Amino acid sequence: METRETLLRLENVSRAYGFGDRRFTAVEKINLEIQAGEFVALLGPSGCGKSTLLRMVTGLIAPTSGTVYYRGQPVRGVNPYATMVFQSFALYPWLTVRDNVALALEARGEPRETRYSRAEQLIDLVGMDGFESAYPRELSGGMRQKVGFARALAVEPELLCLDEPFSALDVLSAEALRGELMELWTGGLLPTKAILMVSHNIEEAISMADRVVVMGKQPGHIVSEFKIDLPHPRQRKAPAFEALIDRIYGAIAGRTEPEAKEVGTPPGAPGLTRILPNASASALAGMLEHIHEMHGGRCDLYKLDEDLGIELSDLLQTVEMAEMLGFAQVEAGDIQLTLLGQIFAEASILTRKEIFAMRARRLPMFQWMMKMLKAAADQSLPWKVFFAALSLEFPDDIAEQQLDVAIDWGRYAELIDYDDRDEVIRLDPSQGRAVDLVR
Ligand code: ADP
Ligand code: MG
Repeated sequence: METRETLLRLENVSRAYGFGDRRFTAVEKINLEIQAGEFVALLGPSGCGKSTLLRMVTGLIAPTSGTVYYRGQPVRGVNPYATMVFQSFALYPWLTVRDNVALALEARGEPRETRYSRAEQLIDLVGMDGFESAYPRELSGGMRQKVGFARALAVEPELLCLDEPFSALDVLSAEALRGELMELWTGGLLPTKAILMVSHNIEEAISMADRVVVMGKQPGHIVSEFKIDLPHPRQRKAPAFEALIDRIYGAIAGRTEPEAKEVGTPPGAPGLTRILPNASASALAGMLEHIHEMHGGRCDLYKLDEDLGIELSDLLQTVEMAEMLGFAQVEAGDIQLTLLGQIFAEASILTRKEIFAMRARRLPMFQWMMKMLKAAADQSLPWKVFFAALSLEFPDDIAEQQLDVAIDWGRYAELIDYDDRDEVIRLDPSQGRAVDLVR
């Protein structure tokens, strides 16, 4: 049996920046422990203090109050057991790959005779053999980040701290590098006992970590924690993975009345308890982005229609859509983004679609439509079939409008698609498959 070996412990850690009127609390009363063998991800919207926490863990800055303990000792000055990999590649442009890594070894006190052979080993480890004599400018972003990892590993840190290490890379390089890091980590090939990674990508966090710690802001604090005990390599389209994403999204979405009403339909009940609001996915995305960027996540509902230049009645439908999907809450005339809404507003288009899909497919309307389509011969059915079914519950004009809305949302989420030449609704091909990419 493994014994618990606590490496890191944060006790009531707070950090403020600035003085006087300018004083600003970045994180407040953080309590967190990391055991040997753990891979922990810190997840939260930008500005919630993730980098501030990592800087305190590595000892680059000190807490304003509270204490960071490493192996039971308060960290004073730079923490010799922890190293950081930043999102941008801090390599010396005038040194070759080999010299960049050797320099880190030199700083650590590695003797001259073994420095170069050790550097070559590390370069091999991160899959960069053959590029020892290359200069950083000759490498792609992904390759430079690998050298960054090799440099960090040269120090043989007990605790490897990663600050959004993949966010400056293109999608494919990021994916490849994540996979390689996980292979090294799960294969026990890293000279490292624990990893603390900052991310603002939910799926990245869930696909890599043993524990996801979710943070909120104003000031930065820990909202909740999730244990992820799925085996590696994790498959994003596997039911267990999706169920977990759904649970985490649910936890950070906040409960709203429209959502509870919509999703609360008992199984087997005649399905459509209420009507989908007549709002489009692009209007939703625009509204969330606006509230996030222009109003810091909260604003007066009745200011929004002027700002966005849309009719109040349209705006209210969009607000209801946001509530139904768990992206916002309305209270006392203000609309407030939930944590999930903040993450959505900051996410790339692809990630937005994924978040949207996870939330939309819980709605009875989509459950019903997708179930019908999955059962159909070529996973498609005439529009008229859905219309006829809906006409039993709604007047014709509402039934038609409901289908329009469902198609708009379904297209955005890549759940379903509609071809108006043959008037057929079909399951989006990315939905039907059970297992996809190995991440
Ligand atoms: P995250 O990494 O989660 O995006 P940060 O830790 O970088 O968050 O920042 C948290 C908050 O502290 C932000 O509002 C940021 O503007 C502020 N902040 C960060 N560093 C400094 C600094 N050196 N001086 C003043 N404010 C800072
Ligand atoms: Mg940061």
